Amino acid sequence: MSESKLLASISLDLDNQWSYMKIHGDAGWQAFPSYFDIFIPYVLDILKTLGLRVTFFIVGQDAALEKNREPLSMITSRGHEVGNHSFSHESWMHLLSNEKVEEEVIRAEQLIQQVTGQKPVGFRGPGFSWSADLLSILSDRGYLYDASTLPTFIGPVARMYYFWTSNLTRDEKKNRKELFGSFKDGLRPIKPYYWQVGSQNKIIEIPVSTIPVIKLPFHLSYLLYLSGYSLNLMRLYLNSAIWFCKLTKTEPSFLLHPLDLIGGDQIPQLAFFPGMNISSAQKIIIFQEVIKTLSRHFQIITMSEYARKLFMRNNLRVVNITQ
Ligand SMILES: [Zn+2]
Repeated sequence: MSESKLLASISLDLDNQWSYMKIHGDAGWQAFPSYFDIFIPYVLDILKTLGLRVTFFIVGQDAALEKNREPLSMITSRGHEVGNHSFSHESWMHLLSNEKVEEEVIRAEQLIQQVTGQKPVGFRGPGFSWSADLLSILSDRGYLYDASTLPTFIGPVARMYYFWTSNLTRDEKKNRKELFGSFKDGLRPIKPYYWQVGSQNKIIEIPVSTIPVIKLPFHLSYLLYLSGYSLNLMRLYLNSAIWFCKLTKTEPSFLLHPLDLIGGDQIPQLAFFPGMNISSAQKIIIFQEVIKTLSRHFQIITMSEYARKLFMRNNLRVVNITQ
């Protein structure tokens, strides 16, 4: 008798070279330098060898530029799915006016659809930022899900580390004061749920998974970081995360970033970034092992496939928005 596997969804936040430079406070990002011509064909080949289809959350600003169009169109022509990662990747959606949030969603959505031929049905806020306005705009526009929350207490700690390693001014730091989330985010559910939007509507929330009970993140950036100390430590951490997921019947939403998969050997412009001293080859070895481990325990699907399953099951709890 075969036991049916829990599901897991995998997504990649397609942050470009300029957005890393921007969050780091480096000059030159305003010209929107891009590594997509190198990164996208490279990552699509790796996903193919793993037989993996994932959801790419795309930033509208990238889809607006001619130089990125061809690589971006490869994502859907090679069978993957796209989601909306805002227009300008400003990691403080909660500070923007309703009109500005609307513009961030709609401009990105239209450009992504133009370039990839696919209309996004899911949204992930940059830097895990979101707001009640955002959720109601997504719901009005018929989005199936939001995936902006990261239920962890570690956000404020990650932010301190980021401030400490960046070149940001005091004002820039002020804008980023909730970057990576507040302590309140640690209290939010890990399993998917419905946000109650206004009195009539609701939208599915698929949080970026953290380890059930202890709420520590385990997305690929963290695993890669641990692998720098010891591969066995990384394995222990990942296996504990999986064990807690299975124990609590949590279906993980597993997050990837470009710099988890490619090293400074191929993107020398970002060689200064943490973790970029690890070679592309080594990153891929880690990625392959992590994916193989996850697939032993879970059936892997895309974010929208997962959102549709959740919708069909019709048993999600409904949560009121408290920011
Ligand atoms: Zn991002």
